Amino acid sequence: MRDSRPLVIARAAPIREALKRLNDTGAGVLLLVGEDGRLERTVTDGDLRRLLLAGEGLDGSLARLPEAAPRTAPLGIEEGEALGLMNAEQIDQLPIIDADGRPAGLYLRRDLDRKILLSTPHMSDFERAYVEEAFRTNWVAPLGPNVDAFERELAAYVGIGHAAALSSGTAALHLALVLLGIGPGDIVLTSSLTFVASANPILYQGASPVFIDSEPESWNLSPAALERALADLGRQGRRAKALVVVHLYGQSADMDPIAALCERHGVALVEDAAESLGATYKERMTGTLARLGAYSFNGNKIITTSGGGMLVSNDGALIERARKLSTQAREPAPHYEHTEVGYNYRMSNVLAGIGRGQLRVIEERVAARRRVFERYREALGAEEGLAWMPDAPYGRATHWLSACTLDPKRAEPAGLAARLAADGIEARRLWKPMHLQPLFKGRPYYPHAPGRSVSDDLFARGLCLPSGSNLSEEQQERIIAALRRALRAA
Ligand SMILES: *Cc1c(COP(=O)(O)O)cnc(C)c1O
Repeated sequence: MRDSRPLVIARAAPIREALKRLNDTGAGVLLLVGEDGRLERTVTDGDLRRLLLAGEGLDGSLARLPEAAPRTAPLGIEEGEALGLMNAEQIDQLPIIDADGRPAGLYLRRDLDRKILLSTPHMSDFERAYVEEAFRTNWVAPLGPNVDAFERELAAYVGIGHAAALSSGTAALHLALVLLGIGPGDIVLTSSLTFVASANPILYQGASPVFIDSEPESWNLSPAALERALADLGRQGRRAKALVVVHLYGQSADMDPIAALCERHGVALVEDAAESLGATYKERMTGTLARLGAYSFNGNKIITTSGGGMLVSNDGALIERARKLSTQAREPAPHYEHTEVGYNYRMSNVLAGIGRGQLRVIEERVAARRRVFERYREALGAEEGLAWMPDAPYGRATHWLSACTLDPKRAEPAGLAARLAADGIEARRLWKPMHLQPLFKGRPYYPHAPGRSVSDDLFARGLCLPSGSNLSEEQQERIIAALRRALRAA
Protein backbone atom coordinates (compact mmCIF):
# COMPACT_ATOMS: atom_id res chain seq x y z
CA MET A 1 0.00 0.00 0.00
CA ARG A 2 1.28 3.46 -0.81
CA ASP A 3 1.70 6.10 1.85
CA SER A 4 -1.16 8.59 1.40
CA ARG A 5 0.51 11.50 3.18
CA PRO A 6 2.38 12.96 0.17
CA LEU A 7 -0.81 12.57 -1.90
CA VAL A 8 -3.19 14.49 0.34
CA ILE A 9 -4.12 17.97 -0.87
CA ALA A 10 -6.59 20.52 0.54
CA ARG A 11 -9.55 21.99 -1.34
CA ALA A 12 -8.07 25.45 -0.90
CA ALA A 13 -4.74 24.55 -2.53
CA PRO A 14 -3.87 26.21 -5.86
CA ILE A 15 -3.91 24.22 -9.11
CA ARG A 16 -0.19 24.89 -9.49
CA GLU A 17 0.48 23.03 -6.22
CA ALA A 18 -1.65 20.07 -7.37
CA LEU A 19 0.23 19.83 -10.68
CA LYS A 20 3.56 19.90 -8.89
CA ARG A 21 2.44 17.24 -6.43
CA LEU A 22 1.22 14.95 -9.22
CA ASN A 23 4.56 15.37 -10.89
CA ASP A 24 6.61 14.69 -7.74
CA THR A 25 4.71 11.70 -6.43
CA GLY A 26 4.22 9.84 -9.71
CA ALA A 27 1.12 8.02 -8.43
CA GLY A 28 -1.09 9.71 -11.07
CA VAL A 29 -3.67 10.70 -8.47
CA LEU A 30 -4.03 13.00 -5.45
CA LEU A 31 -6.41 12.69 -2.51
CA LEU A 32 -8.50 15.83 -1.98
CA VAL A 33 -9.58 16.46 1.61
CA GLY A 34 -11.99 18.94 3.12
CA GLU A 35 -11.32 21.11 6.16
CA ASP A 36 -12.20 18.20 8.46
CA GLY A 37 -9.50 16.09 6.78
CA ARG A 38 -12.03 13.63 5.31
CA LEU A 39 -11.48 12.35 1.80
CA GLU A 40 -13.78 14.15 -0.66
CA ARG A 41 -12.54 12.92 -4.01
CA THR A 42 -9.51 12.02 -6.07
CA VAL A 43 -7.74 14.47 -8.40
CA THR A 44 -6.04 13.43 -11.62
CA ASP A 45 -4.23 15.30 -14.39
CA GLY A 46 -7.47 15.20 -16.39
CA ASP A 47 -9.41 16.95 -13.60
CA LEU A 48 -6.84 19.74 -13.50
CA ARG A 49 -6.86 20.08 -17.29
CA ARG A 50 -10.63 20.53 -17.25
CA LEU A 51 -10.34 23.28 -14.59
CA LEU A 52 -7.77 25.13 -16.71
CA LEU A 53 -9.90 24.78 -19.84
CA ALA A 54 -12.85 26.17 -17.88
CA GLY A 55 -10.83 29.33 -17.39
CA GLU A 56 -9.12 28.81 -14.02
CA GLY A 57 -5.55 30.11 -13.83
CA LEU A 58 -2.65 28.16 -12.28
CA ASP A 59 -3.23 30.12 -9.09
CA GLY A 60 -6.92 29.27 -9.04
CA SER A 61 -7.94 26.81 -6.35
CA LEU A 62 -9.32 23.30 -6.46
CA ALA A 63 -12.53 24.55 -4.86
CA ARG A 64 -14.40 24.40 -8.15
CA LEU A 65 -13.87 20.66 -8.56
CA PRO A 66 -17.32 19.04 -8.26
CA GLU A 67 -18.21 16.54 -5.55
CA ALA A 68 -17.36 13.03 -6.72
CA ALA A 69 -17.23 10.53 -3.85
CA PRO A 70 -14.66 7.90 -4.87
CA ARG A 71 -14.86 4.15 -4.31
CA THR A 72 -12.80 3.54 -1.17
CA ALA A 73 -11.96 0.63 1.10
CA PRO A 74 -11.41 0.50 4.86
CA LEU A 75 -8.00 0.21 6.48
CA GLY A 76 -6.96 -3.42 6.86
CA ILE A 77 -8.17 -4.66 3.48
CA GLU A 78 -5.77 -7.27 2.05
CA GLU A 79 -3.99 -6.69 -1.24
CA GLY A 80 -5.73 -9.60 -2.90
CA GLU A 81 -9.13 -8.23 -1.88
CA ALA A 82 -8.13 -4.74 -3.00
CA LEU A 83 -7.19 -6.03 -6.45
CA GLY A 84 -10.45 -8.00 -6.62
CA LEU A 85 -12.41 -4.85 -5.79
CA MET A 86 -10.56 -2.84 -8.43
CA ASN A 87 -11.32 -5.53 -10.99
CA ALA A 88 -15.01 -5.61 -10.03
CA GLU A 89 -15.33 -1.82 -10.12
CA GLN A 90 -13.06 -1.42 -13.14
CA ILE A 91 -10.92 1.17 -11.38
CA ASP A 92 -7.14 1.52 -11.27
CA GLN A 93 -6.81 3.18 -7.86
CA LEU A 94 -8.35 2.49 -4.52
CA PRO A 95 -7.99 5.04 -1.69
CA ILE A 96 -7.97 3.49 1.78
CA ILE A 97 -9.69 5.45 4.54
CA ASP A 98 -9.65 5.19 8.32
CA ALA A 99 -12.72 5.00 10.56
CA ASP A 100 -13.10 8.80 10.38
CA GLY A 101 -13.06 8.87 6.59
CA ARG A 102 -9.50 10.29 6.41
CA PRO A 103 -7.04 8.98 3.79
CA ALA A 104 -4.85 6.19 5.21
CA GLY A 105 -3.24 4.77 2.07
CA LEU A 106 -3.67 4.08 -1.60
CA TYR A 107 -3.63 0.94 -3.72
CA LEU A 108 -2.72 1.29 -7.38
CA ARG A 109 -3.50 -1.50 -9.81
CA ARG A 110 -0.05 -1.20 -11.34
CA ASP A 111 1.56 -1.90 -7.95
CA LEU A 112 -0.57 -5.00 -7.40
CA ASP A 113 -0.69 -6.80 -10.70
CA ARG A 114 2.96 -6.47 -11.64
CA LYS A 115 4.59 -9.88 -11.40
CA ILE A 116 7.40 -10.20 -8.89
CA LEU A 117 10.10 -12.56 -10.11
CA LEU A 118 12.64 -14.57 -8.15
CA SER A 119 15.80 -12.76 -9.25
CA THR A 120 16.06 -10.36 -12.18
CA PRO A 121 18.92 -8.36 -13.73
CA HIS A 122 19.64 -5.08 -11.97
CA MET A 123 21.60 -2.65 -14.12
CA SER A 124 23.48 0.35 -12.72
CA ASP A 125 24.37 3.63 -14.42
CA PHE A 126 27.71 2.24 -15.63
CA GLU A 127 27.10 -0.66 -18.05
CA ARG A 128 25.95 1.42 -21.02
CA ALA A 129 29.16 3.44 -21.24
CA TYR A 130 31.32 0.30 -21.46
CA VAL A 131 28.99 -1.29 -24.01
CA GLU A 132 28.88 1.91 -26.08
CA GLU A 133 32.65 2.06 -25.96
CA ALA A 134 32.70 -1.43 -27.51
CA PHE A 135 30.37 -0.25 -30.30
CA ARG A 136 32.24 3.03 -30.83
CA THR A 137 35.53 1.18 -31.31
CA ASN A 138 33.84 -1.71 -33.22
CA TRP A 139 35.09 -4.25 -30.66
CA VAL A 140 31.85 -6.18 -31.17
CA ALA A 141 33.68 -9.49 -31.02
CA PRO A 142 34.77 -12.19 -28.67
CA LEU A 143 37.74 -10.87 -26.70
CA GLY A 144 38.83 -7.24 -26.62
CA PRO A 145 39.66 -4.50 -24.12
CA ASN A 146 36.48 -4.94 -22.02
CA VAL A 147 37.25 -8.65 -21.60
CA ASP A 148 40.83 -7.94 -20.49
CA ALA A 149 39.66 -5.24 -18.09
CA PHE A 150 36.78 -7.34 -16.72
CA GLU A 151 39.22 -10.17 -15.95
CA ARG A 152 41.62 -7.78 -14.17
CA GLU A 153 38.84 -6.04 -12.26
CA LEU A 154 37.14 -9.24 -11.12
CA ALA A 155 40.47 -10.76 -10.06
CA ALA A 156 41.19 -7.61 -8.03
CA TYR A 157 37.72 -7.67 -6.43
CA VAL A 158 37.95 -11.27 -5.24
CA GLY A 159 41.69 -11.07 -4.56
CA ILE A 160 43.14 -13.69 -6.87
CA GLY A 161 46.01 -13.73 -9.36
CA HIS A 162 44.37 -14.72 -12.63
CA ALA A 163 40.97 -14.90 -14.33
CA ALA A 164 39.61 -15.97 -17.72
CA ALA A 165 36.25 -14.58 -18.87
CA LEU A 166 34.12 -17.27 -20.51
CA SER A 167 30.74 -17.72 -22.15
CA SER A 168 29.10 -19.27 -19.06
CA GLY A 169 29.66 -20.59 -15.57
CA THR A 170 29.13 -24.09 -16.92
CA ALA A 171 31.96 -23.52 -19.42
CA ALA A 172 34.19 -22.41 -16.52
CA LEU A 173 33.41 -25.59 -14.57
CA HIS A 174 33.94 -27.72 -17.66
CA LEU A 175 37.34 -26.16 -18.38
CA ALA A 176 38.32 -26.64 -14.74
CA LEU A 177 37.81 -30.39 -15.14
CA VAL A 178 39.66 -30.40 -18.48
CA LEU A 179 42.58 -28.53 -16.88
CA LEU A 180 42.73 -31.10 -14.08
CA GLY A 181 42.94 -33.87 -16.66
CA ILE A 182 39.60 -35.43 -15.73
CA GLY A 183 38.71 -38.09 -18.30
CA PRO A 184 36.64 -41.22 -18.84
CA GLY A 185 36.30 -43.40 -15.76
CA ASP A 186 37.68 -40.80 -13.32
CA ILE A 187 35.68 -40.24 -10.16
CA VAL A 188 34.56 -36.68 -9.47
CA LEU A 189 32.74 -35.82 -6.26
CA THR A 190 30.25 -32.97 -6.05
CA SER A 191 27.48 -31.56 -3.88
CA SER A 192 24.12 -33.22 -4.44
CA LEU A 193 22.03 -30.18 -3.47
CA THR A 194 22.83 -27.93 -6.43
CA PHE A 195 21.88 -26.87 -9.94
CA VAL A 196 22.59 -29.50 -12.59
CA ALA A 197 25.33 -27.30 -14.10
CA SER A 198 27.67 -28.34 -11.26
CA ALA A 199 27.45 -31.98 -12.34
CA ASN A 200 26.93 -31.90 -16.12
CA PRO A 201 30.62 -31.14 -16.90
CA ILE A 202 31.55 -34.39 -15.11
CA LEU A 203 29.47 -36.22 -17.71
CA TYR A 204 30.92 -34.10 -20.57
CA GLN A 205 34.31 -35.59 -19.62
CA GLY A 206 32.95 -39.13 -19.43
CA ALA A 207 33.83 -39.20 -15.73
CA SER A 208 31.75 -40.76 -12.92
CA PRO A 209 29.98 -38.41 -10.52
CA VAL A 210 29.64 -39.31 -6.84
CA PHE A 211 27.22 -37.13 -4.89
CA ILE A 212 27.76 -35.79 -1.39
CA ASP A 213 24.97 -34.63 0.91
CA SER A 214 24.63 -31.27 2.67
CA GLU A 215 25.21 -30.50 6.33
CA PRO A 216 22.35 -28.84 8.22
CA GLU A 217 24.52 -25.90 9.44
CA SER A 218 25.15 -24.34 6.02
CA TRP A 219 23.09 -26.50 3.61
CA ASN A 220 26.42 -26.99 1.81
CA LEU A 221 28.65 -30.02 1.35
CA SER A 222 28.83 -32.14 4.50
CA PRO A 223 32.45 -32.78 5.57
CA ALA A 224 31.20 -35.86 7.45
CA ALA A 225 29.65 -37.33 4.30
CA LEU A 226 32.77 -36.44 2.31
CA GLU A 227 34.96 -38.23 4.82
CA ARG A 228 32.84 -41.39 4.57
CA ALA A 229 32.85 -41.22 0.77
CA LEU A 230 36.63 -40.93 0.62
CA ALA A 231 37.10 -43.76 3.12
CA ASP A 232 34.64 -45.92 1.23
CA LEU A 233 36.39 -45.31 -2.09
CA GLY A 234 39.72 -46.11 -0.39
CA ARG A 235 38.38 -49.46 0.79
CA GLN A 236 37.42 -50.21 -2.82
CA GLY A 237 40.96 -49.34 -3.87
CA ARG A 238 39.74 -46.32 -5.79
CA ARG A 239 40.48 -42.64 -5.52
CA ALA A 240 38.47 -39.55 -6.43
CA LYS A 241 40.37 -37.26 -8.76
CA ALA A 242 38.49 -34.05 -8.01
CA LEU A 243 35.79 -32.48 -5.85
CA VAL A 244 33.52 -29.70 -7.16
CA VAL A 245 32.25 -28.03 -4.00
CA VAL A 246 29.22 -25.76 -4.38
CA HIS A 247 28.52 -22.60 -2.37
CA LEU A 248 24.75 -22.61 -2.34
CA TYR A 249 22.45 -19.56 -2.46
CA GLY A 250 25.32 -17.19 -1.68
CA GLN A 251 26.77 -18.99 1.34
CA SER A 252 30.20 -20.56 1.55
CA ALA A 253 30.68 -24.22 2.31
CA ASP A 254 32.83 -24.99 5.37
CA MET A 255 36.04 -25.00 3.35
CA ASP A 256 38.74 -25.79 5.97
CA PRO A 257 37.68 -29.37 6.79
CA ILE A 258 36.78 -29.97 3.14
CA ALA A 259 40.18 -28.75 1.89
CA ALA A 260 41.98 -30.77 4.58
CA LEU A 261 40.19 -33.98 3.52
CA CYS A 262 40.99 -33.30 -0.16
CA GLU A 263 44.62 -32.64 0.71
CA ARG A 264 44.89 -35.86 2.70
CA HIS A 265 43.36 -37.94 -0.11
CA GLY A 266 45.05 -36.19 -3.04
CA VAL A 267 41.78 -34.87 -4.46
CA ALA A 268 41.93 -31.67 -6.55
CA LEU A 269 39.47 -29.06 -5.27
CA VAL A 270 37.30 -26.86 -7.51
CA GLU A 271 34.81 -24.28 -6.23
CA ASP A 272 31.49 -23.80 -7.94
CA ALA A 273 31.00 -20.19 -6.81
CA ALA A 274 28.35 -19.49 -9.46
CA GLU A 275 25.88 -18.47 -6.75
CA SER A 276 28.31 -16.94 -4.28
CA LEU A 277 30.25 -14.06 -5.86
CA GLY A 278 30.83 -11.64 -2.97
CA ALA A 279 30.38 -14.24 -0.22
CA THR A 280 33.30 -14.80 2.14
CA TYR A 281 34.80 -17.62 4.16
CA LYS A 282 37.01 -16.41 7.03
CA GLU A 283 37.56 -13.04 5.34
CA ARG A 284 38.44 -14.56 1.96
CA MET A 285 36.18 -14.56 -1.08
CA THR A 286 34.51 -17.78 -2.17
CA GLY A 287 35.92 -18.92 -5.50
CA THR A 288 39.49 -18.12 -4.39
CA LEU A 289 39.88 -20.87 -1.78
CA ALA A 290 40.76 -23.81 -4.03
CA ARG A 291 42.95 -24.67 -7.01
CA LEU A 292 40.26 -23.34 -9.39
CA GLY A 293 37.05 -21.36 -8.92
CA ALA A 294 34.11 -20.71 -11.26
CA TYR A 295 31.67 -17.78 -11.25
CA SER A 296 28.52 -17.30 -13.31
CA PHE A 297 27.03 -14.09 -14.73
CA ASN A 298 23.80 -15.68 -15.89
CA GLY A 299 20.75 -13.37 -15.87
CA ASN A 300 19.52 -14.50 -12.44
CA LYS A 301 22.85 -14.27 -10.61
CA ILE A 302 23.92 -11.47 -8.26
CA ILE A 303 25.55 -9.63 -11.15
CA THR A 304 25.02 -10.52 -14.78
CA THR A 305 26.45 -10.09 -18.26
CA SER A 306 23.17 -11.61 -19.57
CA GLY A 307 25.22 -14.80 -19.86
CA GLY A 308 28.82 -15.46 -18.97
CA GLY A 309 31.27 -16.94 -16.52
CA MET A 310 34.77 -16.61 -15.11
CA LEU A 311 37.40 -19.18 -14.22
CA VAL A 312 39.91 -18.02 -11.61
CA SER A 313 43.08 -19.37 -10.06
CA ASN A 314 46.30 -18.26 -8.43
CA ASP A 315 48.08 -20.54 -10.90
CA GLY A 316 48.77 -18.32 -13.92
CA ALA A 317 49.75 -21.26 -16.13
CA LEU A 318 46.35 -22.92 -15.59
CA ILE A 319 44.48 -19.76 -16.58
CA GLU A 320 46.73 -19.23 -19.61
CA ARG A 321 45.85 -22.75 -20.68
CA ALA A 322 42.14 -22.10 -20.07
CA ARG A 323 42.35 -19.10 -22.42
CA LYS A 324 43.90 -21.29 -25.12
CA LEU A 325 41.38 -24.15 -24.68
CA SER A 326 38.50 -21.65 -24.75
CA THR A 327 39.57 -20.31 -28.18
CA GLN A 328 39.58 -23.67 -30.03
CA ALA A 329 43.04 -24.53 -28.62
CA ARG A 330 44.78 -22.63 -31.37
CA GLU A 331 48.56 -23.06 -31.35
CA PRO A 332 50.81 -20.01 -31.72
CA ALA A 333 51.46 -20.16 -35.45
CA PRO A 334 50.81 -17.81 -38.38
CA HIS A 335 48.24 -20.27 -39.78
CA TYR A 336 45.55 -22.29 -37.95
CA GLU A 337 47.44 -25.03 -36.12
CA HIS A 338 45.77 -27.47 -33.67
CA THR A 339 47.22 -30.32 -31.64
CA GLU A 340 44.43 -30.85 -29.06
CA VAL A 341 40.68 -30.50 -28.79
CA GLY A 342 39.44 -27.01 -27.96
CA TYR A 343 36.22 -25.15 -27.23
CA ASN A 344 34.53 -21.91 -28.23
CA TYR A 345 34.05 -20.64 -24.69
CA ARG A 346 35.35 -17.05 -24.65
CA MET A 347 33.27 -14.10 -23.52
CA SER A 348 32.16 -11.39 -25.94
CA ASN A 349 33.66 -7.93 -25.56
CA VAL A 350 30.15 -6.40 -25.53
CA LEU A 351 29.00 -8.60 -22.65
CA ALA A 352 32.23 -8.00 -20.72
CA GLY A 353 31.26 -4.31 -20.86
CA ILE A 354 28.04 -5.13 -19.00
CA GLY A 355 30.11 -7.11 -16.50
CA ARG A 356 32.47 -4.18 -15.84
CA GLY A 357 29.53 -1.91 -15.07
CA GLN A 358 27.94 -4.53 -12.81
CA LEU A 359 31.17 -5.15 -10.94
CA ARG A 360 31.34 -1.49 -9.92
CA VAL A 361 28.17 -1.95 -7.85
CA ILE A 362 28.68 -5.52 -6.60
CA GLU A 363 29.02 -4.47 -2.95
CA GLU A 364 25.73 -2.53 -3.17
CA ARG A 365 24.09 -5.59 -4.70
CA VAL A 366 25.37 -7.81 -1.89
CA ALA A 367 24.11 -5.34 0.72
CA ALA A 368 20.70 -5.14 -0.98
CA ARG A 369 20.26 -8.94 -1.11
CA ARG A 370 21.28 -9.27 2.51
CA ARG A 371 18.74 -6.56 3.40
CA VAL A 372 15.99 -8.46 1.53
CA PHE A 373 16.76 -11.60 3.56
CA GLU A 374 16.88 -9.60 6.82
CA ARG A 375 13.47 -8.01 6.10
CA TYR A 376 11.91 -11.41 5.50
CA ARG A 377 13.41 -12.75 8.70
CA GLU A 378 12.23 -9.76 10.73
CA ALA A 379 8.72 -9.61 9.28
CA LEU A 380 8.05 -13.35 9.24
CA GLY A 381 10.25 -14.49 12.11
CA ALA A 382 7.25 -15.09 14.35
CA GLU A 383 5.38 -17.22 11.80
CA GLU A 384 5.09 -20.70 13.19
CA GLY A 385 6.52 -23.47 11.04
CA LEU A 386 8.73 -21.17 8.98
CA ALA A 387 12.53 -21.26 9.37
CA TRP A 388 15.34 -19.53 7.46
CA MET A 389 18.51 -20.73 5.81
CA PRO A 390 21.04 -20.70 8.64
CA ASP A 391 23.78 -18.05 8.58
CA ALA A 392 27.02 -19.99 9.00
CA PRO A 393 29.27 -18.18 11.50
CA TYR A 394 32.48 -18.36 9.45
CA GLY A 395 31.73 -15.76 6.78
CA ARG A 396 29.47 -13.31 5.01
CA ALA A 397 26.61 -14.84 3.05
CA THR A 398 25.23 -12.73 0.18
CA HIS A 399 21.81 -14.40 0.38
CA TRP A 400 21.71 -14.48 -3.41
CA LEU A 401 18.36 -16.18 -2.89
CA SER A 402 16.38 -15.89 0.34
CA ALA A 403 15.57 -19.47 1.24
CA CYS A 404 13.33 -20.85 3.96
CA THR A 405 11.97 -24.19 5.11
CA LEU A 406 8.43 -25.09 6.08
CA ASP A 407 7.21 -27.36 8.79
CA PRO A 408 5.33 -30.11 6.93
CA LYS A 409 2.60 -29.89 9.57
CA ARG A 410 2.02 -26.29 8.47
CA ALA A 411 2.51 -26.19 4.70
CA GLU A 412 4.33 -27.78 1.82
CA PRO A 413 6.45 -25.81 -0.64
CA ALA A 414 4.70 -26.68 -3.93
CA GLY A 415 1.29 -25.65 -2.59
CA LEU A 416 2.66 -22.46 -1.08
CA ALA A 417 4.46 -21.57 -4.34
CA ALA A 418 1.19 -22.11 -6.25
CA ARG A 419 -0.67 -19.79 -3.86
CA LEU A 420 1.99 -17.12 -4.24
CA ALA A 421 1.87 -17.54 -8.03
CA ALA A 422 -1.84 -16.73 -7.90
CA ASP A 423 -0.81 -13.41 -6.31
CA GLY A 424 1.70 -12.77 -9.10
CA ILE A 425 4.70 -13.76 -6.99
CA GLU A 426 7.31 -16.23 -8.18
CA ALA A 427 8.69 -18.59 -5.55
CA ARG A 428 10.66 -21.74 -6.30
CA ARG A 429 11.45 -24.91 -4.45
CA LEU A 430 15.08 -25.52 -3.52
CA TRP A 431 17.23 -27.39 -6.03
CA LYS A 432 16.16 -30.98 -6.46
CA PRO A 433 19.22 -32.95 -5.34
CA MET A 434 21.26 -34.59 -8.08
CA HIS A 435 21.01 -38.06 -6.52
CA LEU A 436 17.22 -37.84 -7.02
CA GLN A 437 17.48 -36.83 -10.68
CA PRO A 438 16.69 -39.46 -13.34
CA LEU A 439 19.83 -38.26 -15.17
CA PHE A 440 21.98 -39.56 -12.31
CA LYS A 441 19.97 -42.63 -11.37
CA GLY A 442 22.16 -45.28 -9.78
CA ARG A 443 25.15 -42.98 -9.11
CA PRO A 444 26.68 -43.28 -5.65
CA TYR A 445 25.41 -40.92 -2.96
CA TYR A 446 26.70 -40.33 0.57
CA PRO A 447 24.18 -38.85 3.03
CA HIS A 448 25.22 -36.60 5.92
CA ALA A 449 24.82 -39.50 8.36
CA PRO A 450 23.84 -43.09 7.67
CA GLY A 451 20.06 -43.06 7.23
CA ARG A 452 19.86 -39.25 7.34
CA SER A 453 19.82 -37.32 4.06
CA VAL A 454 19.77 -33.57 4.70
CA SER A 455 19.32 -32.61 1.04
CA ASP A 456 16.22 -34.84 0.69
CA ASP A 457 14.71 -33.09 3.68
CA LEU A 458 15.61 -29.61 2.39
CA PHE A 459 14.13 -30.39 -1.01
CA ALA A 460 10.93 -31.64 0.58
CA ARG A 461 10.52 -28.54 2.75
CA GLY A 462 12.43 -25.67 1.18
CA LEU A 463 11.29 -22.61 -0.75
CA CYS A 464 13.15 -19.66 -2.33
CA LEU A 465 11.43 -16.28 -2.23
CA PRO A 466 11.91 -13.31 -4.58
CA SER A 467 15.33 -11.94 -3.70
CA GLY A 468 16.42 -9.43 -6.36
CA SER A 469 18.55 -6.47 -5.31
CA ASN A 470 16.00 -4.35 -7.22
CA LEU A 471 13.06 -5.53 -5.12
CA SER A 472 11.34 -2.45 -3.66
CA GLU A 473 10.20 -2.33 -0.04
CA GLU A 474 6.59 -2.10 -1.27
CA GLN A 475 7.04 -5.23 -3.36
CA GLN A 476 8.57 -7.04 -0.44
CA GLU A 477 5.68 -6.01 1.80
CA ARG A 478 3.38 -7.42 -0.86
CA ILE A 479 5.28 -10.73 -0.75
CA ILE A 480 5.26 -10.83 3.04
CA ALA A 481 1.50 -10.17 3.19
CA ALA A 482 0.85 -12.79 0.51
CA LEU A 483 3.01 -15.36 2.30
CA ARG A 484 1.17 -14.76 5.58
CA ARG A 485 -2.15 -15.19 3.76
CA ALA A 486 -0.92 -18.33 2.03
CA LEU A 487 0.31 -19.82 5.32
CA ARG A 488 -3.03 -19.12 6.97
CA ALA A 489 -4.87 -20.74 4.06
CA ALA A 490 -2.54 -23.78 3.99
C1 LIG B 1 24.03 -20.83 -12.36
C2 LIG B 1 24.83 -21.95 -11.87
C3 LIG B 1 25.81 -22.56 -12.66
C4 LIG B 1 25.97 -22.33 -14.13
O1 LIG B 1 26.19 -21.07 -14.55
P1 LIG B 1 25.80 -20.66 -16.05
O2 LIG B 1 26.51 -19.36 -16.20
O3 LIG B 1 24.31 -20.54 -16.07
O4 LIG B 1 26.30 -21.70 -16.97
C5 LIG B 1 26.61 -23.52 -12.09
N1 LIG B 1 26.44 -23.91 -10.81
C6 LIG B 1 25.49 -23.37 -10.02
C7 LIG B 1 25.39 -23.84 -8.62
C8 LIG B 1 24.65 -22.39 -10.52
O5 LIG B 1 23.68 -21.88 -9.75
